[in-house]
Amino acid sequence: MKIVALAGGVGGAKLVDGLVQSLSPQDLTIVVNTGDDFEHFGLTICPDLDTICYTLAGIANPETGWGRSEESWSTYQELKRLRAPDWFQLGDRDLATHLERTRRLIDGESLSQITAYFCQIWGVQHPVLPMSDDPVQTWLLTDEGELPFQEYFVYYHYQPIVRDIQFRGIEKAKPAPEVLGALNQADVILFCPSNPFVSIDPILGLDGVRKACLNHKVLAVSPIIGGKAIKGPAAKMFEELGITPSPVAVAQHYAGLLNGLVMDNLDAQLAAEVQQIGIRTLVTDTLMDNSLARYNLAQILLRAIESGEL
Ligand code: GDP
Repeated sequence: MKIVALAGGVGGAKLVDGLVQSLSPQDLTIVVNTGDDFEHFGLTICPDLDTICYTLAGIANPETGWGRSEESWSTYQELKRLRAPDWFQLGDRDLATHLERTRRLIDGESLSQITAYFCQIWGVQHPVLPMSDDPVQTWLLTDEGELPFQEYFVYYHYQPIVRDIQFRGIEKAKPAPEVLGALNQADVILFCPSNPFVSIDPILGLDGVRKACLNHKVLAVSPIIGGKAIKGPAAKMFEELGITPSPVAVAQHYAGLLNGLVMDNLDAQLAAEVQQIGIRTLVTDTLMDNSLARYNLAQILLRAIESGEL
């Protein structure tokens, strides 16, 4: 069974970490949001791609969910001493990724090529594809003005109230070379429990991706549990856009594309409402707070697909 997982950073990384333990590299391709990418100190930084790759390589920081394990901060401390911008924390090991990525981009390599190269070096066997090699920038239109994603997320700790979201450059951007091929060969397209607005929607906005989803079985794991996001602004964004955050809201957000939703035991009472939209449900424990929980959720999901429950 071939699965293509669409993923953002932290929530996406947890589920794909579970899936790689059960699926061969031929059967799982991961397509990652690049709308959060930005330039800092002249370096191209791809937070979601790095979170996914570091996690699958077993070199992610287990406490933060982002950045490298066994990290040191000498460069960052010196930058602080120089009163350089310090709102985005960059560890020494992490910096090597951004330096080498930027050097290769300047040399003319594509982000897909560089990601494949890094994955080979790091021992990541499952294909990890950036959604696009072209720049797409997520902007939040907020009560404090227009903010690029990282400024909203890291500098302002996602406190400004979101009125609208834009993916600048999306009309001109093409999906990265292997993305549509992978989607078209998939048995299942899986939306990871990532932020629907800023992690999954940019991928769906690329030319041909939504169409590919329409021709396939599409499943999602809800990033909202008990009305809350485990991390980040997903629930807050639903509220600010006038929607009560819940798995029903997630299902409605993806309505027209989604065939099945995995939702948490805590939300069991909402399953009937999701089914009324014509979407199948699987109610289980979806909190992936350790490696075993990630594996278990992936196993439950795969069994439900095989049995036809989803
Ligand atoms: P980001 O780009 O790093 O913010 O990462 P994502 O968009 O991939 O992930 C953020 C989303 O992951 C949030 O909406 C969280 O609620 C969700 N999330 C994080 N951990 C878990 C988990 O263990 N289970 C579920 N169901 N969702 C999670």
